[in-house]
Amino acid sequence: MRNILLLLVLLVAGTWWMRYNERKRNTERDERNEQRRPPPAHGPRTTVREALPPAERMVQCIECDTYLPESEAVGGAGGNHFCSAAHRNAYLTREHRV
Ligand SMILES: [Zn+2]
Repeated sequence: MRNILLLLVLLVAGTWWMRYNERKRNTERDERNEQRRPPPAHGPRTTVREALPPAERMVQCIECDTYLPESEAVGGAGGNHFCSAAHRNAYLTREHRV
């Protein structure tokens, strides 16, 4: 019985010691990473998202199903969008013929 108790105490102590060491290692690593990090650049930091142009709504050409930015699309009657004037003309010609 005494052996079992001794084994249990050793197990608990071993677990505690391992956790303590792991925590210590993590703190040391964090401190090292903190030192290695370069100092912040002057002025506001620009992220990739900020450097990119603002997102734009994409619309679909009703004639050929191509997606394109709304600013590059050619508008048509009834809120339809077209990739080019040629597709708008083709669509309108066909629609009026039917
Ligand atoms: Zn098109």
